[in-house]
Amino acid sequence: GGFESLGLSPNVYGGIKRKGYKVPTPIQRKTMPLILAGNDVVAMARTGSGKTAAFLVPMLERLKEHVPQSGVRALILSPTRDLALQTLKFTKELGHLMDLRISLLVGGDSMESQFEELAQNPDIIIATPGRLMHHLSEVDDMSLRSVEYVVFDEADCLFGMGFAEQLHKILTQLSENRQTLLFSATLPSALAEFAKAGLRDPQLVRL
Ligand code: AMP
Repeated sequence: GGFESLGLSPNVYGGIKRKGYKVPTPIQRKTMPLILAGNDVVAMARTGSGKTAAFLVPMLERLKEHVPQSGVRALILSPTRDLALQTLKFTKELGHLMDLRISLLVGGDSMESQFEELAQNPDIIIATPGRLMHHLSEVDDMSLRSVEYVVFDEADCLFGMGFAEQLHKILTQLSENRQTLLFSATLPSALAEFAKAGLRDPQLVRL
């Protein structure tokens, strides 16, 4: 079960090679086939496990290239600005052969420059929940209905930092026809409840 057995398109495989990855990490080996097959997944994975590529590679495989007028197709929620920035960098590296537009919506950057990015019809939004909700409340025609791939990254931190209310609100703005992934080091009860509300028959992956 190496990367070559996943049936990835050349551009996505090229991104993996460029990063220098030879073999999938255990979490990647377990989650990638499930995600590529379209399942919702709850993955118990810590930073350092290779979790980021575990959800970015199937996302890139699904998105493939910029689709004009499609609306936002993928949403990644991060607990912190730093993690969102890292994930942005990682997405650009893995997707360097692909024509995809990414918008970073985090606190600390101006709303104005983020409005401009959103006007460019991004395929992917990487956001912290507070700033995403801020945009949704400011911009009448901003919609998450077109999103088909959602990741709650470091979900225990998202909850630990008091984003629970925003996360539940974000769920209500998403389409039913989406794939949802939740990556977390731990699964406290509030998070298990959230997964029940937001994921459809999720596959649970532990190491
Ligand atoms: P993460 O757990 O996503 O923060 O990743 C931890 C580190 O592992 C990052 O520096 C990744 O670039 C690296 N990494 C992820 N997947 C692989 C892999 N299959 N082989 C080697 N390094 C990897």
